[in-house]
Formats: sequence, C-alpha cells, structure tokens
Amino acid sequence: MIEADVIIIGAGASGLMCAAEAGKRGRKAIVLDHANKAGKKILMSGGGRCNFTNYEVGPDNYISHNPHFCKSALSRYTQWDFLALVGRYHIPFHEREHGQLFCDESARDILNMLLSECNNAGVVIKLNTSIDTIEPASNKGFHLKTNKGNYICQSLVVATGGLSIPKMGATPLGYKIAQQFGITVWPTRAGLVPFTLQPEDKAKFSTLSGIAVLCVISNKSRSFRENILFTHRGLSGPAVLQISSYWRPGEEIMINLLPDMNLSVELKSKRQQKIKSKMKTCLDSYLPKRLINSLFTDDVLESSLQDLSDKQIEQISKQIHNWTIKPNGTEGYRTAEITSGGVDCEAISSKTMESKAVPGLYFIGEVLDVTGWLGGYNFQWAWSSAWCAGQYV
Ligand SMILES: Cc1cc2nc3c(=O)[nH]c(=O)nc-3n(C[C@H](O)[C@H](O)[C@H](O)COP(=O)(O)OP(=O)(O)OC[C@H]3O[C@@H](n4cnc5c(N)ncnc54)[C@H](O)[C@@H]3O)c2cc1C
Repeated sequence: MIEADVIIIGAGASGLMCAAEAGKRGRKAIVLDHANKAGKKILMSGGGRCNFTNYEVGPDNYISHNPHFCKSALSRYTQWDFLALVGRYHIPFHEREHGQLFCDESARDILNMLLSECNNAGVVIKLNTSIDTIEPASNKGFHLKTNKGNYICQSLVVATGGLSIPKMGATPLGYKIAQQFGITVWPTRAGLVPFTLQPEDKAKFSTLSGIAVLCVISNKSRSFRENILFTHRGLSGPAVLQISSYWRPGEEIMINLLPDMNLSVELKSKRQQKIKSKMKTCLDSYLPKRLINSLFTDDVLESSLQDLSDKQIEQISKQIHNWTIKPNGTEGYRTAEITSGGVDCEAISSKTMESKAVPGLYFIGEVLDVTGWLGGYNFQWAWSSAWCAGQYV
C-alpha cells in the first residue's frame, strides 16, 4: 500500500499544476495517469505552440450551467499569475489577435515548466497506471486499486479532463468517479468543433476546401467575428469552433460573409454610376470566386447589374450578409478541442474545488462543467482551478 497526502488522477494541464502547488505546501503528492506520457494535450495544443492564456480573461468567456462558479478561481489565480510563472522560466511568447498568448518556440516549454515545478516540489508522477477501483477509506480519505499497486490518500483530485481526442487518452473516468460519489454530471457534448454539413450542402461546398473568409457568425444567443474555413468535410475555422460550443442540433447558423460593408448600398450605388458589369464580376471583387459560384445560380451571376431591381439586389445582399446554414452535426469528440458539460459546479466549492458532500474529493480542469472559448481560456481555467485546489488538498 503506497501512502500519499494527495493523489491526483490525470497528468494533464490541471493535474500537474495542482500537484506542484500541493507539493510546494509540503504535501506528499502523487500523480497517476494511464497514458505513457504526461501532458499530451498541452503538446498538441495551439498547433504545437500552446495558446496558454489570454490577456483578457473573464467569466463571460466561459459556458456553464452555473456561470458564476468560475469567477472566484479566475480572480484568485489570474492570467497575470500564470504569465509571471512563464516569465520565471524565461519562456518566449507572443500575442496573436484577441489577446491570445502563444509560445514562440514550442508547447513543450509549457509542459517542461510544469514538470520542473512538480519535480522541484517533490511530486511523483506515475504513468501507465490505470485506476481499477476507488473506495472511501474507513476513517478518512480514499483507497485506490490500480494495475501498478494500491494507494491510500487523504485528498483525491480528479483531473482527468474531458472526452475530446480519445486517441490522446481521453476517458470518462472523471464523470464515473463523480457519479460513484453521488455527484451530478451534466450531459457532455463536443465543443470547439467543426460542423459537418447536410448532404446537399456538402456536395455544394466541399469544392471550396481551403477557402477562409472573415465573417460574423451567429446563432440565437451569440456572435463571433472570426474566420470561417471551408473544408472537405464541412465548415471549420475559429468562427465555427466558437459558435459550435453554443450550437444545439437542429439549430440554424447565420453567417455574415461581408461584415464590414452594406452590399445592397454598394451595388445600388454602382448601378447608379451606370457601371456595366455582370453580377459575377461585381461579387468577385468582394469574395472568392469559387464561393460566389457556389452561393448563386448562373442566372444571377450572368445577369447585368443594370438590369437588377432593388428587390433583386436586396435578395443577393441578404444571401451574403445573412447566409443561413443548418449544420448536419459536428465532427464530435474525434476532433473537438473541448468537452462541454461535465461535473455539476453546484456540487463543488468554487473556492477550493472540493466536493461539498464528499470531503477530500476534488475536481479541477475540463472535467468540470466549465467550458472556455477558443483563445487560451481553457488552459487558464485549468491553471486557475488547479491552483485553487492546490492550496487546500
Ligand atoms: C487539439 C487540441 C488543441 C487545444 N488547444 C488549446 C489551446 O491552444 N489553448 C487552450 O486554452 N486550450 C486548448 N485545448 C484544450 C485544453 O487542452 C484542455 O482544456 C486542457 O488540457 C484541460 O486540462 P485538464 O487537465 O482538465 O485535462 P487534460 O489536459 O486533458 O489532462 C487529462 C489527463 O487525464 C488522463 N486521464 C484521462 N482518463 C484517465 C484514466 N482513466 N486513468 C488515468 N488517467 C486518465 C489523461 O491521460 C490526461 O493526461 C486544446 C485541446 C485540444 C484537443
């Protein structure tokens, strides 16, 4: 039987951060992970450069059934605190649009930093370790049976992440532990994920693969101004990933393909100036030719601007400013960056991340029902929630 003050299940972003903080307080912390390497998602994040936080972080950047839950942790361990840590390790980074912060060189810099923090704090990381059973200990704490021996600990931290990218080791263990201890788990679904298209739309738009367009994408509740990217499977790009976290099956998505102009005013003005162009020539000057060819019939494209009525111009304009599409679905957990839903925040202390009903049991990171936007918000949630738990475990 191996004894520890704290056992953390999951050697990902939140698990490593929490272990280092617990270790700094003199707690004997052991991290268990079934994967053969720690921090695999950190390494693949941000295209290998890890978008590790954002200059602007607030509760509005998160989705949860309890939108207030994330406030305490985000304000107690902020993006500035994480940046100070990054600064202590002299990790070069840069800002991209919307305040997103990426490593200059490699996501490995962030993982190495967390591993050094763990090492300096005496944390033991055990990889290739699968959890068989977890039981409450007779007086206080938890017994764990694993394929590598049995453990006993006072505090148990569940940092097993979400379900996205099963190939990288994602499993539902965290949700199962919550349910075992009577804690509600909200239904999960893939978030920050590309859309697939209805068969007829797929046939029409798959030829546009590779085209990116700045747009404003909206559903009933949210709007994002970002690029959409046409792919051979459907629609992707930051705009689509952002709105996907707010999308429900069957819903329509509205896309303004020319958010910085009023096309009908522009076309009417050209018509008044007696510009003798075909519609396809006019529209090609604003948007990629292949996209225009897919959105409009030849009748429209071959018509002369001079021959169009106000009503026809309004219709063409509407098609571009309010392109409405009903996705068939999403690509699911296979390619999703995040899992929405998860362990019910009502059951967890927002200050300590400890279960209100099960003393000593903590949940941190993505396993909780806190889903960040694209842009470094999910890592910031991992750091903030982990740091808070690390002060109490
Ligand atoms: C492709 C991709 C790119 C991303 N890019 C970004 C980005 O640039 N910026 C950003 O903010 N967010 C990004 N994210 C999201 C971010 O990676 C996660 O939100 C973050 O890693 C969550 O941290 P976590 O500690 O909760 O879970 P994870 O980092 O996923 O760690 C969970 C750990 O638990 C282990 N585990 C799971 N099940 C078990 C089990 N049964 N037994 C033992 N161990 C188990 C896993 O092996 C893993 O090591 C990206 C995600 C993906 C998939």
